[in-house]
Amino acid sequence: MSDRLRTYLVTGGAGFIGSNFVLRAVARGDLRVVTLDKLTFAGNLSNLTPVMTERNHEFAEGDICDRALLARIFEAHRPDVVVHFAAESHVDRSIDGPRDFVNTNIVGTFELLDASRRHHAGLDEAGASAFRFLHVSTDEVYGSLGESGAFSEASPHAPNSPYAATKASSDHLVRAYHHTYGLPTVTTNCSNNFGPFQFPEKLIPLVIFNALEGKPLPIYGDGMNVRDWLYVEDHCDGIHAAIERGRPGETYTLGGSNERTNLDLVTSLCDALDRAAPPRVNPRLTDNGRRIASYRELITFVADRPGHDRRYAIDASKSRRELGWQPQHGFVEGLEKTVRWYLEHSAWRDSIAAARRDRLGLSKSASNSTTGGAS
Ligand code: NAD
Repeated sequence: MSDRLRTYLVTGGAGFIGSNFVLRAVARGDLRVVTLDKLTFAGNLSNLTPVMTERNHEFAEGDICDRALLARIFEAHRPDVVVHFAAESHVDRSIDGPRDFVNTNIVGTFELLDASRRHHAGLDEAGASAFRFLHVSTDEVYGSLGESGAFSEASPHAPNSPYAATKASSDHLVRAYHHTYGLPTVTTNCSNNFGPFQFPEKLIPLVIFNALEGKPLPIYGDGMNVRDWLYVEDHCDGIHAAIERGRPGETYTLGGSNERTNLDLVTSLCDALDRAAPPRVNPRLTDNGRRIASYRELITFVADRPGHDRRYAIDASKSRRELGWQPQHGFVEGLEKTVRWYLEHSAWRDSIAAARRDRLGLSKSASNSTTGGAS
């Protein structure tokens, strides 16, 4: 019997959720992980510092749209599982410039599926039946909800933003590769994540970064858009469960049952920051004689995002039933843990702030980096 470790090829593993997933997968010790990432503005190699010298981890810089590169990676590493995180992931950017979203999220997913299909066709029977292509997708493919109800696996795709449309397209390609070619795919559609290593153009890290710097905390529209929040480690556990127990060809929704309006979320974050880093001892909030009792005073409402989906919520009962998965973190606990992590990792914050100035400073989105959308 071979003592070869089961090998995961993880795309987008230097991004927010991908890096959380890679760190946990490598720490298990019974897996080999190959991370493939293009290192766009959203990818940050320092997220992977703890595993860069581990023997069961390898990093490859590259683009999932590069067919020849994918062929070389599959040939060299012969993955048992592909975990596909790589994507352009920010709705506001997809409104400013959808092309990169079409390229990475649709064409890139197609190239990865096609490389997986060729690889899968060359496996022996046991290898072929154990192989999994885990596609990491979003609840945004389902569009917007009214006051009540929740998305489930039976909800029709009805994407509203260019981001959601490209993710919906990738979901359909994944489905077709299972149906047509028998590729053992599993798709997870997850709600909004929060936790360590998130790039500060998304609402939670943006609020933390801005608050600590004494800048306005922007909230879109009336702040009443609702998202269902899940702590990122719980999402990573859900993906592991879907790899191990998900049925090929199936989709599974993952969510935290933590519906919050954006305004509730930002005020809860301000309260957590008030406790952990009181404004009265923050020099950025006391300079020039400024007197601020709570970070809540920095909240500012800005013009709404075009086509902003009103409400998302997830019914994750199928994942609970079939995958034996459920979130381990309550919302407040996850939020406190998140705030602590950003406060304790000031070097990471500084490096990201510098990269943000250098790399985003050139694009139109940079001037929009005060946006207040949750996803
Ligand atoms: P992210 O933007 O933080 O990370 C994306 C990563 O993909 C980056 O490291 C980037 O460098 C890499 N990448 C981008 N284009 C690439 C390409 N062409 N080739 C190789 N690598 C490329 O995103 P995230 O928030 O971690 O999201 C990861 C996945 O999870 C995405 O597919 C997203 O749609 C999905 N998702 C995210 C959330 C959320 O709340 N963030 C919720 C549900 C699903």
